[in-house]
Amino acid sequence: MAEQTLRGSCLCGGIEVQVRGEIGQLDYCHCSQCRKASGTAFASNAPITTDRLAITGSHLVKEFAASDGKWRAFCGTCGSPIYSRRASRPNEVRLRVGLLDDAIAPSQRQHIWADSRANWHEIDDSLPAFSEDAGSSPLQQKPQPQPLGNRNS
Ligand SMILES: [Zn+2]
Ligand SMILES: [Zn+2]
Repeated sequence: MAEQTLRGSCLCGGIEVQVRGEIGQLDYCHCSQCRKASGTAFASNAPITTDRLAITGSHLVKEFAASDGKWRAFCGTCGSPIYSRRASRPNEVRLRVGLLDDAIAPSQRQHIWADSRANWHEIDDSLPAFSEDAGSSPLQQKPQPQPLGNRNS
């Protein structure tokens, strides 16, 4: 059986991505850079080796040096975040999984940089949550969902 290809695009469609094979690890990253770059509570990022990734319309990709040795790539037309990459990992990007149109079945999902999360977003699922990068100490206190009407008690 042929290996599947996952397809996606940026909002304007000028950049198309194809991932060969399945998404393995999926990180919900709550770091302040991902929050600002995405404009929301967290980014959904998957490490993908570059040999599994094809990008068309790459002339539209703009890269912002967010910190030393790390770039955040986005569409220069519509602003959609596409991936981030590090000089220290030249054969890997962290793809923004929200670009994908196809359904995915990641083998592992986790929250990372949970200590940096927005104070208006609660992590209340049963996934692993790490205070900083994956493998750091677990987030100690996941707020428990409270019954409606009981939040001020
Ligand atoms: Zn675009
Ligand atoms: Zn992040």
